[in-house]
Amino acid sequence: MSASTVRIGLVYPELLGTYGDRGNAVVLVDRLRWRGIDAELVEVAVRTPLPGDLDVYVIGGGEDAAQLAALDELRPQVDRLQAALERDVPVFAVCAGFQLLGSTISLAGRRDPVDGLGLYHGHTAPTGSRWVGEALLEVDLEGVGPVGGFENHGASTTLGPDERPFGRIRHPVGDDRTDGVVRGSLVGTYLHGPVLARNPGLADHVLRRVVGDLGPIDDDLAAELHRVRLDALR
Ligand code: GLN
Repeated sequence: MSASTVRIGLVYPELLGTYGDRGNAVVLVDRLRWRGIDAELVEVAVRTPLPGDLDVYVIGGGEDAAQLAALDELRPQVDRLQAALERDVPVFAVCAGFQLLGSTISLAGRRDPVDGLGLYHGHTAPTGSRWVGEALLEVDLEGVGPVGGFENHGASTTLGPDERPFGRIRHPVGDDRTDGVVRGSLVGTYLHGPVLARNPGLADHVLRRVVGDLGPIDDDLAAELHRVRLDALR
């Protein structure tokens, strides 16, 4: 590893790894390497300290119990994520990972809400039925465009009035819902896929925060996957 190696952190993949969300970290590493930029995947195992000096923090989804275990592990270390965000370091979180960064979380079958990590203002509560299926979002981030993915969650998140959602749901049609949050270098979404594999523009949006302008790459297959999956939802 050289001093300039970009270190993509994958937080607690044993707990937060449903639906292949680790692929988000793999995609970030690969899209840097394809451009000749040194990058490595740093897996942060449960019960090891969360490094404070990673260049990106990727957090995936997980079942309710695993999610609460991850929350307990992260709580005493939240200052590291907080400091990373203050330095404009990207934190990219999916589903359970996104939920646990908010203000409070209540999950089906558990009476009392628990405090989240408080990195954005948002309350997560059970919806009564699960949201399961393909989703298409309209996203207002430069260079990103529409985002597709797969959602599967039994709770949903209501953002505080000061927060900006990541996207507005366009499919399933008829839902007036937003998805996720964007707050500085924090991006949270409910979408799996892995979402960065299905949406290369979003992956590059995250990477530009780390390395600045990105050169073009030959990623025709990723672009094709993005187009085909979105066309299926339109
Ligand atoms: N346990 C959370 C929910 O169902 C998150 C699920 C997930 O990460 N897929 O709302």
